[in-house]
Amino acid sequence: MFDDLQKRLSGAFGRFRVRGVLTEQNIQDGLREVRTALLEADVNLNVVQDFIAKVKQRAVGEQIIKSIRPDQQIVKIVHDELVALMGETDATIRFEKTGPTILMLCGLQGSGKTTTCGKLARMLALQGRKPMLVAADLQRPAAVEQLKTLGQQLAIPVHAETGVGPVQVCQNGVAAAAKAGCDTVILDTAGRLHIDDELMEELKTIEKKVKPHHVFFVCDAMTGQDAVASAKAFNEALELDGVILTKLDGDARGGAALSIRQVTGVPIKFMGIGEKLDKLSPFDPRRIAGSILG
Ligand code: GDP
Repeated sequence: MFDDLQKRLSGAFGRFRVRGVLTEQNIQDGLREVRTALLEADVNLNVVQDFIAKVKQRAVGEQIIKSIRPDQQIVKIVHDELVALMGETDATIRFEKTGPTILMLCGLQGSGKTTTCGKLARMLALQGRKPMLVAADLQRPAAVEQLKTLGQQLAIPVHAETGVGPVQVCQNGVAAAAKAGCDTVILDTAGRLHIDDELMEELKTIEKKVKPHHVFFVCDAMTGQDAVASAKAFNEALELDGVILTKLDGDARGGAALSIRQVTGVPIKFMGIGEKLDKLSPFDPRRIAGSILG
């Protein structure tokens, strides 16, 4: 995870590893390299500027210049500020006391949305919930079959039907879940290759008519600033409760993970760290900051 960024940052921290006293010039030079490393990792420009300003202010304020191991202190400051940037998140989901709790997952095609529906259902089932999956992605031809297969693997019921629209599928799914005694409904909604009005209208209609209790946006961390831009657009249309970042296991740069919270204000709730169904964890900014700093 984040190998490229880690290599570049450790190079930058070398600048703080000087013999004798560190000068303000050393700090400037070191932070310039940190800045370049973050920009090359595809972190949002405003986020980088704000981040560097904060680290610099603390570095000067905490009298790094006089410290014996200035590099260690800088690493600690950068660590703390990275955690602040990604935001501490409470990944627990609030469940309704009566009737099924409805979770709506949305995202672009290929982001890992259907897989994440399965992973989330598995995680909740292990916590003692009784989930039902609802196949409302009628855009991608294979999505319904994929969800059914996931359901079979996990022994979790899947509501799927043909001949009706996605809103109706969701509504019928919620009714079926209540009837079957399921307490959690996970809606796998349609994705498209790009954001378009038709997709947004479909999702807004589902939100209005089905009234999900939580709306999560699934996005592929490897797409960097494109993931951030799509999260922003989805949040403007739907008021997201959280982001689920997928494919962090294959993300060498970290641009999406480091920008998305600041740019959108939406907390990152979970992270996907592999293709297998057990590879979903609550988002942990300390773990990420730790792996970035090596
Ligand atoms: P959808 O079109 O958004 O429903 O995407 P899918 O759920 O079909 O996932 C697209 C691809 O991404 C599949 O090959 C998944 O196995 C893969 N995928 C999903 N989540 C992760 C993840 O966290 N890590 C990795 N490495 N692959 C993932």
